[in-house]
Amino acid sequence: MVIESPQLERVTSYLTRLQLVATRDRLESVLQQAAKEETSYLDFLDRVLGEEVAAKNDKRMRMGVQIAHFPLKRTLEDFDFTVQPSIDRKLIRELETGRYLAHGENVLLLGPPGVGKTHLAIGLGRRAIAVGASCLFVPATGLVAQLLRAESEGRLDERLCYFAKPKLLIIDELGYLPFERQAAHLFFQLVNRRYEKGSLMLTSNQPVGNWGEVFGDAVVATAILDRLLHHSHVITIKGESYRLREKRKAGLLRSGEVAAS
Ligand code: ADP
Ligand code: MG
Repeated sequence: MVIESPQLERVTSYLTRLQLVATRDRLESVLQQAAKEETSYLDFLDRVLGEEVAAKNDKRMRMGVQIAHFPLKRTLEDFDFTVQPSIDRKLIRELETGRYLAHGENVLLLGPPGVGKTHLAIGLGRRAIAVGASCLFVPATGLVAQLLRAESEGRLDERLCYFAKPKLLIIDELGYLPFERQAAHLFFQLVNRRYEKGSLMLTSNQPVGNWGEVFGDAVVATAILDRLLHHSHVITIKGESYRLREKRKAGLLRSGEVAAS
């Protein structure tokens, strides 16, 4: 049944004006339900505003995740911490609050392939979005390729701005390939630009001690590490590859047998 009244129209326009669109779009059914259940005024407001807030959070989350360009759908909820006892749960819980973002602190996720570094980075990225921060995910090789191309096309500054902007920049698989000299230099410029302003989250299968080789040049590596480690949380995962574990469980590998993951 469509109720038409000037008052209803007025309320609808108020809701539009206040951008309470979830309530506006369901106004009639919300009113009918309240009348049927004879809800108190407070209960009515509580429910309507609660649903409006939930709808807004949902939308922000969806848009934030779209902008972040996560390569996979992964959440902290579906990460099994019991198989990785080396991970400091307290630190993960602290990072989930997003407080590190306010101070531009960095997070390093280190460990061999398959232990869940990318999964955790995406999960923490989603948490960052949930607490209202902007997030962008980029593989290290893609990042460097983009910076090199931008430089050759004379628009390096614009690209550096793009990567400097998000409150959290996740750079995945640093050290998988060593950087050429110029790439390391461009990477330094980005780290420098974000320093103490925006958080970096890096995943790497190389221990920090090897990063000199990753960046090719010891001087650049020191300058990068200096800024990265100054305010940083380091999570070192020591366990075995989750992929191999799954294979082993399925009987495809014997215990102790090694395979490329
Ligand atoms: P890494 O980045 O360390 O190489 P990934 O994060 O890509 O590892 O993990 C490999 C695969 O295993 C992914 O599909 C990931 O979701 C899954 N995985 C890894 N660790 C866990 C875990 N502890 N619980 C659930 N899934 C996991
Ligand atoms: Mg990974």
